[in-house]
Amino acid sequence: MKKIIVNLNKRSYPIFIGKNILSDKSLFNKVNKKSLALITNKKIEKLHISKIKNALMKKNKIIISDGEKYKNQDSITKIYNYLLKNKYSRDSCIVAFGGGVIGDMAGFAAATYQRGIDFIQIPTTLLSMVDSSVGGKTGINHPLGKNMIGSFHQPIAVIIDTEILKTLSKRQFNAGMSEVIKYGIIKDKNFFDWIVKNTDEIKAQDPKSIIKIVKRSCEIKAEIVALDEKEKNIRALLNLGHTFGHAIENYLGYGKWLHGEAIACGFLIASSVAIQKNTMNISEYNKIKALLKAFSLPTKLPKNINIEKLFKIMSLDKKVKNNEMVYVLPKNIGNAYITNKISKNIVIKALKDHAK
Ligand code: NAD
Ligand code: MG
Repeated sequence: MKKIIVNLNKRSYPIFIGKNILSDKSLFNKVNKKSLALITNKKIEKLHISKIKNALMKKNKIIISDGEKYKNQDSITKIYNYLLKNKYSRDSCIVAFGGGVIGDMAGFAAATYQRGIDFIQIPTTLLSMVDSSVGGKTGINHPLGKNMIGSFHQPIAVIIDTEILKTLSKRQFNAGMSEVIKYGIIKDKNFFDWIVKNTDEIKAQDPKSIIKIVKRSCEIKAEIVALDEKEKNIRALLNLGHTFGHAIENYLGYGKWLHGEAIACGFLIASSVAIQKNTMNISEYNKIKALLKAFSLPTKLPKNINIEKLFKIMSLDKKVKNNEMVYVLPKNIGNAYITNKISKNIVIKALKDHAK
């Protein structure tokens, strides 16, 4: 089993990564002493609850309907109702067992119930293992915008059992790979090259390769979060491709393209902006494109997209600061930077170059 620490002084916590580690009771020692509520959805309950049954001493469950559209206030109310009716105190602990939807929602319930209680993350999708379960961003959607209500609340532990990925669809797996590739682009050229060399092993879910990509991704995220927990500066590097990606998701209607798919296309648009600014060369762009293709991720915008409309949606993104669009751009594979000095023309050209 691998262990990584997210260093945040008193709020530091471990991330455990391994194959079949959910049966290890010792990982749950701390939480088993508390009143526990496990939050999951029906699908994950059916597929994987047996893996965790023996290690968790108390079996109280809150089942939320499956899907992004249930990441809302109604589900949070359902969680509060359960906790209050069953007299959960400030000393209780929530266990989030699911993908990013369950993790964000359970984390937000933990952040706000009686002004904040402990929670642990047991992520079950690749995206939640390498991204959403680490870093303490929790929240729900509002009818007027995605992730608009939320709080920073760090978990007390993250437990990642890579065996759980076996039941994940290929499409969801590849969407998670998009965030993995992102870490290579923004921070670690060797890691990027390693993914290129080991694409087949990763696709076949060779256990060692999966542990390697999850571990390296968590290390990079942990390092960045430790430096800038509340995204005042460098944590924004993690948003590479996201301004473009969110706009695509929003334009199409959420769920049409998965988040990982939309940001994959976003990496290339950001790279193309960087090429126009002469801060990146085309051979790097081509390497990124080839790797995204290898994981069946989109490298072009959706068909017949209206570029002006897409740009307008981008300018409404919550990452816009003081009316200026902020962009994360790659310099080369392994380095990225944040800038607000990009003219609309350049962005429009990059978008047009990716239209079908
Ligand atoms: P998800 O939680 O909706 O899971 C995708 C689908 O896979 C669901 O139907 C789920 O039930 C199913 N599933 C989960 N694990 C499975 C398994 N092992 N086998 C089979 N099916 C399984 O989606 P996601 O991609 O994990 O997360 C997306 C959410 O994460 C979004 O709401 C996004 O806003 C959020 N997010 C948060 C952060 C953060 O820092 N907090 C970062 C990135 C994304
Ligand atoms: Mg993301």
